[in-house]
Amino acid sequence: MHELGITQNIVAIVLEQARGASVKRVTLEIGKLSAIMPEAIRFCFDICCQDTLLEGVTLEIIETEGKGKCRHCGHEIRLSQPFGQCDRCDSFELDIIQGQELQIKEMEVEELCV
Ligand SMILES: [Zn+2]
Repeated sequence: MHELGITQNIVAIVLEQARGASVKRVTLEIGKLSAIMPEAIRFCFDICCQDTLLEGVTLEIIETEGKGKCRHCGHEIRLSQPFGQCDRCDSFELDIIQGQELQIKEMEVEELCV
């Protein structure tokens, strides 16, 4: 399950950026073409957060649609897999412009009151 390694990276990045502050919520953006299962990430996230500062954090996952752009006519097409055909000129040569990303979109940190 390669999601475990991915999740370990995410947790490490969040912990580093939090610098000891208490994190309330982490929002991830996962592209539908990334071959990453959001449910697997969610499962691994809980495991990876155990006994860290992130234990109990809310994880939100936003799935982004796959999108391709035709190299011939520039037409943009919605994709549900990482390949497809232009519906305007029938070309198979597409550049994927959205849907393969995996990134931390947002993290909400508890404000420290002095
Ligand atoms: Zn085209």
